[in-house]
Amino acid sequence: MQILLANLDVPGQQEIETYINGGGYRGLRKALAEFTPDQLIEEVKKSGLRGRGGAGFPTGLKWSFVPKESSKPTYLCANADEGEPGTFKDRVIIEKDPHLLIEGIIIASYALKVKQAYIYIRGEMIRGAEILHQAVNQAGEKGFLGRDILGSGWDLDVLVHPGAGAYICGEETALLESLEGKRGQPRVKPPFPALVGLYNSPTVINNVETLANLPAIVNSGAAWFAGIGTKKSTGTKLFCLSGHINRPGVVELPMGIPLRELIYEHGGGIRNGRELKAVIPGGSSTPVLKADEIDVNMDFESLAAAGTMLGSGGVIVIDGTTCMVWALANLAGFYAHESCGQCTPCREGVPWIRDILTRLEAGRGRADDLEILLDVAGNISGNTLCPLGDAAAMPVESFVTKFFDEFKGHIDGQCCPFKAQPLSRVASG
Ligand code: SF4
Repeated sequence: MQILLANLDVPGQQEIETYINGGGYRGLRKALAEFTPDQLIEEVKKSGLRGRGGAGFPTGLKWSFVPKESSKPTYLCANADEGEPGTFKDRVIIEKDPHLLIEGIIIASYALKVKQAYIYIRGEMIRGAEILHQAVNQAGEKGFLGRDILGSGWDLDVLVHPGAGAYICGEETALLESLEGKRGQPRVKPPFPALVGLYNSPTVINNVETLANLPAIVNSGAAWFAGIGTKKSTGTKLFCLSGHINRPGVVELPMGIPLRELIYEHGGGIRNGRELKAVIPGGSSTPVLKADEIDVNMDFESLAAAGTMLGSGGVIVIDGTTCMVWALANLAGFYAHESCGQCTPCREGVPWIRDILTRLEAGRGRADDLEILLDVAGNISGNTLCPLGDAAAMPVESFVTKFFDEFKGHIDGQCCPFKAQPLSRVASG
């Protein structure tokens, strides 16, 4: 079942003629001809589509929070600031099938009566931004963007805006601040962007993968989409396979596929025939699973029941040669670097965690380090302005709890038993 990757390997798929020849922009024509904006919102609600950026919030419901009547314009922002370690699915859509995203943006904009939409793309994705610029221009030349789209009387412009590579700008309110030309720091919520967003106006922020599902939902119907996957996690999901796996890459599979099948069938199993040690199932911020916990289905509910999250679908596979202290120090170094510094638990706590882990890995662990690590992580969780604090704390709790003996062994032995990992790779300040 391929919805998003079906035409990925078609030569010239980035060109609008190729996209149209493959059935592209049919969904937009149908949306304009057969749906009012409100009917379209209901259709997306019925499809069960949930946000693919990590939170899994129902897309149609999010759209319905936008006021029906407002003196201010409504904006749509496509969140293409893909920055969660282990996640590289949106980039594939952007670079290989950009009109799928553009068509999704136009459909969403029609439902929300938006006249100005933005694509906020990660600064490092220079090639992706170039491809999107071209795709937007081509869509304008064909009458899918601009004035009086396909004779509907409705106008829409799309602007591609590159960020500067800050992880925090993937958080929706930091993204809005950055788009407004300010420092990319999260806002206090409420008010939520649906009411007070870009330039204090109602704004919807949707992930690239979420938007790319819309043409198929309009073309084939909400009931068809809702019939794929599980009852509460509908449709397919792009999974990013990385780490110690034989076939890394992006695969599209129905929601609810067993994690074991994902790793051993679609990913070809563990590299060099080694034993599996752990899996981070949904991007670096999601709690780690041990090798004996992979008999779980990859959908929002099943992973939550297993104490972790589907997140962005970034599956990081870890084999038996990996030091979990080193791996966690690496993650903590990333989050310490990316903290925007706005709130104390994150600004002070995450570097503290990084420093303890770096010391532990260097063989200078102290008896109470594990207790302090868990205490600091516990004091960050739920006490910060934005999810970055939780994203940094959750892996600490799961790594230390599930691999306690390995962490304690670093303290007891005053060394790292996995000498293959050079200390220079441990992130620091
Ligand atoms: Fe900034 Fe961290 Fe606070 Fe988020 S949790 S607002 S990244 S300091």
